[in-house]
Amino acid sequence: MRIYKANILHTPSPNHFEVYQGGYITVDDNGIIQGVYEVLPTEMEDMPVVDFGERLLIPAMNDMHVHAPQYANMGIAMDMELIPWLNTYTFPEEEKFADEQYAKAVYDAFVKELCRQGTMRAAVFATTHIHATQCLAKTFDEMGMGALIGLVGMDRHSPEELVNTASSWASDMQSLMQSMADMAKVKPIVTPRFIPSCTPAILQTMGTIATQFKLPVQSHLSENKQEIIWVQQLEPQSTCYGDAYHRYGLFGQTPTLMAHCCYTDGEELKLMHANDVCVVHCPTSNCNLASGIAPVRKFLQAGVRVVLGSDIAAGHHLSIFRVMQYAVQVSKLQYALSDGKLPFLTLSEVFYMATKAGGSFFGKVGSFEVGYAFDALVIDDMGIHDVGLPTDCQQRLERFIYLGDDRHIVHRFCQGKEISLNSQF
Ligand SMILES: [Zn+2]
Repeated sequence: MRIYKANILHTPSPNHFEVYQGGYITVDDNGIIQGVYEVLPTEMEDMPVVDFGERLLIPAMNDMHVHAPQYANMGIAMDMELIPWLNTYTFPEEEKFADEQYAKAVYDAFVKELCRQGTMRAAVFATTHIHATQCLAKTFDEMGMGALIGLVGMDRHSPEELVNTASSWASDMQSLMQSMADMAKVKPIVTPRFIPSCTPAILQTMGTIATQFKLPVQSHLSENKQEIIWVQQLEPQSTCYGDAYHRYGLFGQTPTLMAHCCYTDGEELKLMHANDVCVVHCPTSNCNLASGIAPVRKFLQAGVRVVLGSDIAAGHHLSIFRVMQYAVQVSKLQYALSDGKLPFLTLSEVFYMATKAGGSFFGKVGSFEVGYAFDALVIDDMGIHDVGLPTDCQQRLERFIYLGDDRHIVHRFCQGKEISLNSQF
């Protein structure tokens, strides 16, 4: 058992931060939280305490939509919309992952940077290359971090070097599952790239395997207007874009993450709610690709779950704190553009999306409640602003989210284990 003392903040519900100023968290030897206290119970008074002093202790981040093989393109190639951007910049970079050495170098750097930015778990797109994808899974496992790893399925409208087939994807998926069998926190996720890249044959196979092995699903949905028109042409029998996944068993039949949803409304929103399909809001990506503003308030009002994703390299930064900040800011633009009809998001709402809501895809993760994994960050916010610290812990966290960066994250824990940035693979 370990006892940690700090200024503790978390969001067990979206509407407010729960704060324990100078509070205590007890964590068992499996990394599971046993209690959170304002004052240490008398029976524990003689036990050693790891005291983080005046620092903040918060749940670690969960990035629920990120493309590991696009890491090298982060921060460049922002001059196109989705479809030409994929063809011009993204697919040529992903083709390089046929080379295992290149893949290993990029994936090592990617996982370390994710860790540096305070993200302990992620839902990740790899590429269609099985060996590179296995390497990505191994890297997360060796680092001690959590991940859902997606071997991408795509068999049309893509470069020849990147496509697989229904049968090659299925057999590669078996190999991937075997290689992950002993990994405690790294699991597979069924990952059709998006409808324009996937024939009915591969979608059918992916849906069957998701259901058979009870695997979660991730993909892209209603991101860009041109894309939506293309999907209507490709899948004319579908009532909406979401229905094109649904008819193949890839829309809530197992836990499902759908990134973007900038134009989701009507039938599609109803289907998402009925099937408990979760939106991954990626506001940095939506800005950079000029896609639109996902109506997150409308999703929340409809009872649809929302989590956050960095979506690099359409997103330009791996920090989920930056993504939170963008999520609030774009919701304020939407509030103004809708004449106040869609109230903007609050900081506690976006913090909840990044922690407890995203964490639910990994089990009991993302909150400091009894029974949850101790995934945590220690924040030293001294020196963020030369006027000194606000007295209120919630304002200190707010200032860190807006003005802080990875230099202010001084400890990182994933299920109780401290994760070091100096790990050698
Ligand atoms: Zn994406």
